[in-house]
Amino acid sequence: MKGAAVINLEVPKKLAVLVNQAHQAAAEVFRPNSRKYDRAEHTYPVELDMLAALLDGLNAGGESGAGAAGVRRGARERKSDGVRNGGNLATVLGTIEMCWGDVGLLLSMPRQGLGNAAIASVADDEQLTRFAGKWAAMAITEPDTGSDSAAIRTTAVKDGDDYILNGEKIFVTAGERADAVVVWATLDRSLGRAAIKSFVVEKGTPGFELVRLEHKLGIRASDTAHFRLDNVRVPAENLLGDPEINVAQGFAGVLQTFDNTRPLVAAMAVGVARAALEETARLLADAGVPIDYDRPANSQPAAVATYLGLEADYEAAYLLTLEAAWMADNGRPNSLQASMAKAKAGRSATDIALRCVELAGSLGYSENSLLEKWARDAKILDIFEGTQQIQLLIVARRLLGKTSTQLK
Ligand SMILES: Cc1cc2nc3c(=O)[nH]c(=O)nc-3n(C[C@H](O)[C@H](O)[C@H](O)COP(=O)(O)OP(=O)(O)OC[C@H]3O[C@@H](n4cnc5c(N)ncnc54)[C@H](O)[C@@H]3O)c2cc1C
Repeated sequence: MKGAAVINLEVPKKLAVLVNQAHQAAAEVFRPNSRKYDRAEHTYPVELDMLAALLDGLNAGGESGAGAAGVRRGARERKSDGVRNGGNLATVLGTIEMCWGDVGLLLSMPRQGLGNAAIASVADDEQLTRFAGKWAAMAITEPDTGSDSAAIRTTAVKDGDDYILNGEKIFVTAGERADAVVVWATLDRSLGRAAIKSFVVEKGTPGFELVRLEHKLGIRASDTAHFRLDNVRVPAENLLGDPEINVAQGFAGVLQTFDNTRPLVAAMAVGVARAALEETARLLADAGVPIDYDRPANSQPAAVATYLGLEADYEAAYLLTLEAAWMADNGRPNSLQASMAKAKAGRSATDIALRCVELAGSLGYSENSLLEKWARDAKILDIFEGTQQIQLLIVARRLLGKTSTQLK
């Protein structure tokens, strides 16, 4: 594998403590509350407050990567040319463990929203300080625009020291609970992608109205909000990144976020897949069908052969995810790897979780096991932050050297 030359595939020693702590939190806080908040959709999981305070402590103590806010720090703090394992890798490893516990609950963790990752990725130092400690959701999707995020219609018009935002945003993860929402808006629709900027809109800003919360197939512990923006006045200093419209640079400013967040979503998928595989191996062993790694798959029961195939998919997803995060930490362009990881992990988690339901039979389909829940939870990981098809499109463009106009 190409990446094997540059990645030490063992979890780096310095991150082992963080991984262990994340696993413990997942086992002791997430798992016992998993079913409860799957059923009590839209109820805030109060059990997360103490955990979130702990995470804040880790972040303040400089143990980088404990949560979404850690995603860019590795690159920012990079001082030498040596290979490093930084904030992105730490966050990805922590996310895998937490989502082994429950992906809906991870998405509900205070101050760890995708908006926090966006702020960590593109904010300047003053903004990083000003928005520290805020829980930020991310609002790109609109009623008429999903995958084609360059077509968004929400507008931002400069007015003195402020921008005035108008439009509608749907499917905003943690939108109701967050303190602020990072809203994508266009300064001038006629200038296309280059005119799209992101703005931190604080809750309580007049005109920023929560319309409703969605009922969903999975990740039901996570709230998904619909907002209307009616003449919302946002200070100009809340614009993240360069306020100028740079047609040559195009979409690069806002898209930078995806290079950091897609490996995170891939990590969520890896975590769910691992949970489903572990549970299935346990159930198969209980049923007298243990997985035997010392014998070829084709000389074992069909269930074991299927399981081993799923595990191979899991490994591929895991390695691609680590590679994408590692590259971000080491200042290497990782858009291709971020999309590959997201495509592989999103698809694999969905397939693996559903096949595990099948392997476990009626127990897998019943609420007596979490397998049916993981099968429902997994699907979103192949949809948000760019669907499967969009990731494949990005990969194809990168490999063939085509622009988004040449290959759509
Ligand atoms: C639970 C949940 C949480 C979400 N959280 C957030 C959030 O926090 N912030 C946010 O901004 N958005 C969020 N989203 C929105 C999510 O990112 C979008 O649903 C996603 O981008 C797809 O957009 P769409 O639903 O409009 O589908 P569409 O773009 O209409 O796509 C429909 C289908 O067509 C396919 N397709 C589209 N274009 C192409 C193409 N060019 N080639 C091939 N196939 C194509 C897609 O892959 C998909 O299968 C969330 C969605 C859900 C369900």
